[in-house]
Amino acid sequence: MTNIDPQQLLLPKEVIYCKKCVMSNQRPRITFNDEGVCSACTYSETKHKDVDWMHKKKLFEELCNKHRSSDGSYDVIVPCSGGKDSSTIAHRLKYEYGMHPLCVTFSPPIYSEIGWKNLRNFIDSGFDHVLVTPNGVINRALTKTGFVHLGDHNEIFDRGVMSTPFQFALKYDVKLVMYGENGEAEYGGTSRINELPGMPWDDFEKIYYSNGLDELIDIANSMGYLPKSFTDKDFDFYRMPDIDKLDKLGIEMHWFAFYHKWIPQGNFYYAATHTGFETNPEGRMEGTYSKYAQLDDLTDSFLYYMMHVKYGFGRTTSDAAHEIRDGHITREEGIALVRRYDGEFPLRSFKQFLTYIDVTSTEFTEIVDKFRLPHIWKKVNGEWKLKNSV
Ligand SMILES: [Zn+2]
Repeated sequence: MTNIDPQQLLLPKEVIYCKKCVMSNQRPRITFNDEGVCSACTYSETKHKDVDWMHKKKLFEELCNKHRSSDGSYDVIVPCSGGKDSSTIAHRLKYEYGMHPLCVTFSPPIYSEIGWKNLRNFIDSGFDHVLVTPNGVINRALTKTGFVHLGDHNEIFDRGVMSTPFQFALKYDVKLVMYGENGEAEYGGTSRINELPGMPWDDFEKIYYSNGLDELIDIANSMGYLPKSFTDKDFDFYRMPDIDKLDKLGIEMHWFAFYHKWIPQGNFYYAATHTGFETNPEGRMEGTYSKYAQLDDLTDSFLYYMMHVKYGFGRTTSDAAHEIRDGHITREEGIALVRRYDGEFPLRSFKQFLTYIDVTSTEFTEIVDKFRLPHIWKKVNGEWKLKNSV
């Protein structure tokens, strides 16, 4: 039992930044070419210049034709948070492609007011929707385990987000599950799946999670985080259905962004127009300059804060890198934004986060500092500073 994310062990010891965007080579699984350009920028160039999107759209129509129901029954499951991206996908599937989506949300640990409002607005714009809210005691215990042992409180949430759509696909006999984008291609990661329309079953565990579920449950149990008595059934929402069974039934997982050029800003305008999506009333989100991405979960800022601690880059780097690739800002503007906001401490929801995972602020600092690697951080006059920045 170590206090390190296994992905941290694989990081290159020399920190470099992409020559085109602001992304660092400390992002897990990202690669850089000989010119010092990251794999996300290389993919983005192909996406903007070489891909025949009209042809991809035709392929998407064929996929919908294969699955579309004739009697109005559900024919596609859309994992949906009520955020700009998933709302846009569900709306386009229904109104542009004539599909009959069932939208499934796996509840975040703590809903924000604006997140809840956006989800309601989305449902009220004409969608059937299921909200899966896991047992609060179990969810807190596993969320705490993820934070303490992996520096990632969302490890268990991510499992729920990935697993529940397939559980509902089985329940309603729906053969198509539509996710948004291939994060590995869009934001930097392994390039070997760039040309695939969906994540291969074998890669789910390898790419989406840092730790096995049973291992996480064992740790939670040994630390005394879990209630005295529990059974395997208590963790069902976090478990992927049997892959062979999904395969045999012909259930397919696809990324919408494989068939459509993925522009987060474009999704924002679309959702604002069609599903009543609203931006954060408090202005920009902590740790970044953006006010329209990932608003629904009050604990999300800690995911990005920990990314900054573990890898030396935060939410501003991620947001700016994508906007540079999309041509919305220059690299110089991106660098200025990173210097200003990256790694900002999420003060607004700090108390709620501590209460949720049942950790004191002193314990919080101790846990956080265990994830700081010596090739990324140094202490100057008692304060942690990055050794290298963009
Ligand atoms: Zn880049």
